[in-house]
Amino acid sequence: MISAVPVRDRVSGLASTAELPAYVYDLVELDAHLSAVRAALGDVELYYAVKANPDPELLRVLSPYVDGWEVASGGELAHVRELFPDASIALGGPGKTEKELLSEVTRLHVESPGELRRLLASGHRADVLLRVNLDVPIEGASLAMGGGATPFGMDPEGIAECVAMLEGQDAVRLRGIHAHLASGLDAARLLVLAEAVLTYARGLGVTEINLGGGMAVSYADPDDRFDWRSYGEGLARLRRPGEVLRIEPGRSLTVYCGRYVTQVIDVKRVHGELFAVVAGGTHHLRTPATKGHDQPLVMGAPGEPVTIVGQLCTPKDILARKAPMRLEVGDVVEFTMAGAYAWNISHHDFLMHPKPSFHYLTAR
Ligand SMILES: *Cc1c(COP(=O)(O)O)cnc(C)c1O
Repeated sequence: MISAVPVRDRVSGLASTAELPAYVYDLVELDAHLSAVRAALGDVELYYAVKANPDPELLRVLSPYVDGWEVASGGELAHVRELFPDASIALGGPGKTEKELLSEVTRLHVESPGELRRLLASGHRADVLLRVNLDVPIEGASLAMGGGATPFGMDPEGIAECVAMLEGQDAVRLRGIHAHLASGLDAARLLVLAEAVLTYARGLGVTEINLGGGMAVSYADPDDRFDWRSYGEGLARLRRPGEVLRIEPGRSLTVYCGRYVTQVIDVKRVHGELFAVVAGGTHHLRTPATKGHDQPLVMGAPGEPVTIVGQLCTPKDILARKAPMRLEVGDVVEFTMAGAYAWNISHHDFLMHPKPSFHYLTAR
């Protein structure tokens, strides 16, 4: 039986441990973070990449701070439209269906000459950015969407083909360039890429440039935060009069506000190693499995390293390896950095365990 251990004050949004496992979102922290990011960006337009976390409660906190939303499917588009009927929306993503291509959006990010051909043939009106994959060296990224052969965007030949197709068109208007080349880069590296993208866009004679997202987040060192101020200052230096610069981060905006809180069901030693099995697991918080990291957590009393696993019948259901803390049956375990690419990327239905509960802290 799970004993009733009092939940720490910081998860005060929970009435009792009966609500565990739970996602707890600190909306006060999110608001403060967004306010600092916004202040650092000056005139740079900020869109939020909805795929990082589409939770309506988070989107409502984001809304006053963003100039628009970047959506990657018709589903995300409908979701955002319902919440914010008049908001600016950019639709991107490879493999847009006919229905997606014909949707009414502020900007359509075109991913290939074939996609543009289908759009032109439809007669639909659209304002487009062409997504470029520049052949630039990308170092230190956790994921690369550009800088070589990938299915994302177009190489400069593809862009040239699109530019030629758009000449003399009035239904489909070329507004500028979109680039999202890598994720997990620090401010200095992102500014190097921004300069390359800007140089390229100026060569085409366009003045609207979306530089993408991908601002670094460190799961190994949660206090090592992206330097928004130097990034904002760098973009202000790079920007020329008349140019509109836009970014569309996801993870770096919402990751810090979410926690996944659960409770230890069993502790055991197997072939000498210590394991703590918690309620829930990677079907609720897939991030450590997909990124291959140990999910950061709130440390308890120091103790023999223990590997924290979930309830799934697979050796991949590991949340954190060898955490140096003492855990007993009934203890509450609080994983941090679970506000982006966490619940919404998880395979909830595998094994049919109950879903977590969701809580939103609106006051300290
Ligand atoms: C996923 C994605 C983003 C957001 O990336 P983050 O790493 O979450 O900042 C932005 N733009 C595009 C095109 C994307 O696919």
